[in-house]
Amino acid sequence: MAALDENLARARGYLARWDGAIVANRIGGEDRPAASGATFQTCSPVDMAPLARVAASDARDVDAAARAAASAFPAWAATPGAERRRILHRIAEAIVARADEIALTECLDTGQALRFMSKAALRGAENFRFYADRAPEARDGKSMYAPGQINISSRSPIGPVGIITPWNTPFMLSTWKIAPALAAGCTVVHKPAELSPLTARLLIEIAEEAGLPPGVWNLVNGDGETAGKALCEHPLIRAIAFIGESRTGQAIVAQGAATLKRVHLELGGKNPVIVFADADLDRAAEAAVFMIYSLNGERCTSSSRLLVEDSVHDAVVARVAEKAARIRLGHPLDPETVIGPLIGPGHEAKVLSYMDKARAAGARIAAGGQKVGEAGCYVAPTLFAGATNDMAIAQEEIFGPVLTAIPFSGEAEAVALANAVPYGLAAYIWTRDTGRALRVSDAVEAGMVWVNSENVRHLPTPFGGVKASGIGRDGGDWSFEFYMETKNVAFATGDHAIPRLGG
Ligand code: NAD
Repeated sequence: MAALDENLARARGYLARWDGAIVANRIGGEDRPAASGATFQTCSPVDMAPLARVAASDARDVDAAARAAASAFPAWAATPGAERRRILHRIAEAIVARADEIALTECLDTGQALRFMSKAALRGAENFRFYADRAPEARDGKSMYAPGQINISSRSPIGPVGIITPWNTPFMLSTWKIAPALAAGCTVVHKPAELSPLTARLLIEIAEEAGLPPGVWNLVNGDGETAGKALCEHPLIRAIAFIGESRTGQAIVAQGAATLKRVHLELGGKNPVIVFADADLDRAAEAAVFMIYSLNGERCTSSSRLLVEDSVHDAVVARVAEKAARIRLGHPLDPETVIGPLIGPGHEAKVLSYMDKARAAGARIAAGGQKVGEAGCYVAPTLFAGATNDMAIAQEEIFGPVLTAIPFSGEAEAVALANAVPYGLAAYIWTRDTGRALRVSDAVEAGMVWVNSENVRHLPTPFGGVKASGIGRDGGDWSFEFYMETKNVAFATGDHAIPRLGG
């Protein structure tokens, strides 16, 4: 309790700056209220207490931000890579220096538990360091020889880009998108999610204090249908990097069509964890529990379907149910808490609706299955058993601490079940048989597969999904491929025969 009280007191101290002040947009290095003067309230899902009022932007604010990003672009694109590296490293250091403020603010704004958010703040710094070190080489291309010709390719930043992020782990995801854009030499207009906008504001302040020139990064708050849509439609914005729901991804593509936007979509998932009977069942159960119940299950790569070979199905399900029942729910700032409240009442109602859908479809609730407490948006860690793959609980992204277990018989059925969903983000395979691990990872429709592991990110590797889970990849050089244009220049090395037309 003492630790919770101390954390709460510090969090209140950090949030006090917004008492009676609005969280303004940041455009061209200046604080700006929305042109309309409108604001919206961000609340804590712990108790629905108001945290701050935030600028509610419309197309005029987006236009101002896009113009600021466009006028900052030539100088930033021409800034030597070594200088961009220096600035991005300073941003990383400044993130570490304010990690406590970032983590506590993020917990109260999102409901995510501090034990995970303190690491997420530091992961944000790591994302900046990783791309800082790659900034000097971002423009490099290839040289390619042909008879009588040398080709040299190079890359240049695409221009001002729009970055639209979701509410689940907003700080880490914002750094994941913005760091490579800046390293590439792009300027940015960021539109964070309206349900958890506070740490995006901290992040841009940190970046400017660390020496990022004004206008290189701009922040516009507001809802998706207004501010987000205007950003997708803006003619000065050359590309949109988006993280969010698959349905919103469809809207992003449609909204960007008239201006031929390049889009990168990181969308939803219904990721299988496939446990074969020969696996280390203890480790598999531990990892499955971690991947669905950490971050409140509000995680795109959560292992939301537990596919278990029938001979060990009941034992694995019993083990997972036992662990789920022991998981600690509580205040996100309590260091012992694993599961905090979901982001808000709307999302809570959606997650709870699957409890009825599960019962109606004939699945069994092996753990959880209900709201916890009166105040706040708490949902017990839930496990559905006796499900089939055609049920809504097996097909739809619930995005909460809710796991659906389904038995399978043999490799072919495991793969068929894994692939019989609209999504294809991640898959987790547990087996001691190397040949099977190779076959199944090859056959599974997913952008990322972890064998005998939970999601452990290695930043140089590609991150992204297939099918309804997205278009494009992040990570390593893949992010630069998105944020940059490639040019090829072919040089003739001699006097080759030019086709003679006209005599
Ligand atoms: P969402 O799609 O509702 O919102 C995401 C962002 O898009 C918000 O900033 C929102 O304001 C904006 N938006 C909404 N409508 C828009 C429109 N018409 N035009 C432009 N912008 C618009 O998603 P969410 O509910 O905030 O986040 C949860 C979803 O994000 C889940 O589906 C989850 O799987 C996904 N997600 C994916 C990844 C990944 O890497 N694949 C990571 C985290 C979350």
